[in-house]
Amino acid sequence: MARTLTEESRQIPVYADVDVAVCGGGPAGVAAALAAARNGASVLLLENQLCFGGQATGGMMNRLGPYHDQQAIILGGIPREVVDGLVGIGAAHPPIPCPHDDPDRYWVPFDPEALKVLLDGMIEQAGVDVLLQTLVTDVIRQEDRLCGVVIENKSGRQAVFARRVIDATGDADVAARAGAPCGKGRETDGLMQPMGLLSKLNALDLAQARPHVISHYAELTDEARRLRTTGGIAPERVHCGTDNLLRKDETYFNASHAHGMDGTDAQHITQVAIRARREIWRNLQFMRERVPGWESAHLAATASLLGVRETRCIQGEYTLTLDDVESGRDFDDGICRYACWIDTHGVVPGEKPECEGRPLQPGVSYTIPFRSLLPKLVDNLLVAGRCFSGTHEARASARMIPACMAMGQAAGTAAALSVREGLTPRELPAELLRDLLRRQGVIL
Ligand SMILES: Cc1cc2nc3c(=O)[nH]c(=O)nc-3n(C[C@H](O)[C@H](O)[C@H](O)COP(=O)(O)OP(=O)(O)OC[C@H]3O[C@@H](n4cnc5c(N)ncnc54)[C@H](O)[C@@H]3O)c2cc1C
Repeated sequence: MARTLTEESRQIPVYADVDVAVCGGGPAGVAAALAAARNGASVLLLENQLCFGGQATGGMMNRLGPYHDQQAIILGGIPREVVDGLVGIGAAHPPIPCPHDDPDRYWVPFDPEALKVLLDGMIEQAGVDVLLQTLVTDVIRQEDRLCGVVIENKSGRQAVFARRVIDATGDADVAARAGAPCGKGRETDGLMQPMGLLSKLNALDLAQARPHVISHYAELTDEARRLRTTGGIAPERVHCGTDNLLRKDETYFNASHAHGMDGTDAQHITQVAIRARREIWRNLQFMRERVPGWESAHLAATASLLGVRETRCIQGEYTLTLDDVESGRDFDDGICRYACWIDTHGVVPGEKPECEGRPLQPGVSYTIPFRSLLPKLVDNLLVAGRCFSGTHEARASARMIPACMAMGQAAGTAAALSVREGLTPRELPAELLRDLLRRQGVIL
C-alpha cells in the first residue's frame, strides 16, 4: 500500500466571499468571469498560470478554431468580441466562412501574446477580481452543498466562499474534488488524446523551406532514422512546423504527440514536457543543418502550459454525442452553437477511428445543451470548456477555443442569473437563460 500521511485540521484565512468563483482562467473561465460580472455578480477568477487564456496563450495555440459552419458565422457574444478585439489591434485575421478544405482560411490565426494583454484589459474593465499563480486545491462543502473552494498560492492556503462555483479548469478538477461523477478519455478504454508542447521558431525563410521539406521529406526522414540509430542528433519525427499566418518568418512546432499519458498525472506531465523540449531542440538542430531557409532559425519560446487535449470530463445531466454533433441537433436548452470536424487525433499510434477528421456538412452546426454544463449530484456547480459532458468524439469537436469561450459565457450568465433569481443552476428555466444570452449577442 502507498504510504500516506493524515493531515491535521487547521484554520485558514478566508480570502473572499463572492457570488461566483471561477476556477481556471482559460478561454472558458475568462468568458465565464466576464459574463457573470457583466450580469451583476461579484466574481473572483482564479488561475494557476501567470496569464489568462489557458491553452490559447500559455499553451501557445495560434489559430482559433472555426467561427462558422462553412456558410455563415455561427458565434456571436464573447467569442466574437475577443476575435474582433484581436483584429482591432492587428493580432488576428477576421473569421471568414469558407469550405472545410481551405485550411489557410478555415482557421483564425492570432497572436497569443496579444491575447494575454487583450484579456487582461477585458477582465479589468468588467470589474472581475483575479488571482494569478493560484491553484484551486479543494472544495468547501456545507451540508452537502458546494459553497466555495480552497486555494493555494504564495500567500499560503486560503478559503474562498462562493454562492456558485464554475469549474473551467479543463480537467474538471473542482467537479472531481466535489464528488461529481466524471469520466476520463475514450469511453471504451479511458485512453486520452495525445499531449504535446508547442514552441515558436523564428528567423526562418518559410517560402524557401516549406517546398524543400515537402520534396525531400522521405530523405530527411531516412537521415533522421539513421542518425537516431548511430547516436546522432535527430528528432523522432521530422517537422517543419505550422506556419504562423500572421508572419512570414515564424513557425509553430507542436512536439511529441505523447500517447498513453494522462494530463492529470503530475509524473506524466513532467515526463512529456522534458521529452518534448528535447525533441524541439533536436528538430531545430537537425533542420538548421539540412534545410535551406532554416540556417538562421532560432527557438523563440516554448509554451509554459503543456498541450493537454483531453482528460476528465463530467457526467452531466446530458452527454453530447457524435450523432448530436454530426446531425446538427438543436436542443431546447441549447446555450451556444458550434461547428467543427471531429478532431480526435488518434489515442493509439497508427489507429485512425472512422470519424477522425470528418468534417460536418456545410451549413450544419449543433447546439450544446445547458444540461451538459451541469454535473450530476452536486448543486451550485457549473462546468465550462473542454471538460463539459460529452462523449470522446463529441468533445473532440467542441474543445476548440471559440466553443469553450461560448460555453463559458453561458455558464457565467447562468451563475449570475441563478444567484439573482434565488434558484440553483439546475432549477433555472432554460428559456430565461437563452433569452438573456440572445440579448448578449449569442447566436442560438
Ligand atoms: C496541442 C493542442 C492543439 C490545439 N490546437 C487548437 C487550435 O489550433 N485551435 C483551437 O481553437 N483549439 C485548439 N486546441 C484546443 C483548445 O486549446 C483547448 O481545448 C481549449 O483551450 C480549452 O479551453 P478551456 O478553457 O476549457 O481549458 P484550458 O485552455 O486548458 O484552460 C484551463 C485553465 O485552467 C487553469 N487551471 C487548471 N487547473 C487549475 C486549478 N486547479 N486551479 C487553478 N487554475 C487551474 C489552467 O492553468 C488553464 O489556464 C488545441 C489543444 C491542444 C492541447
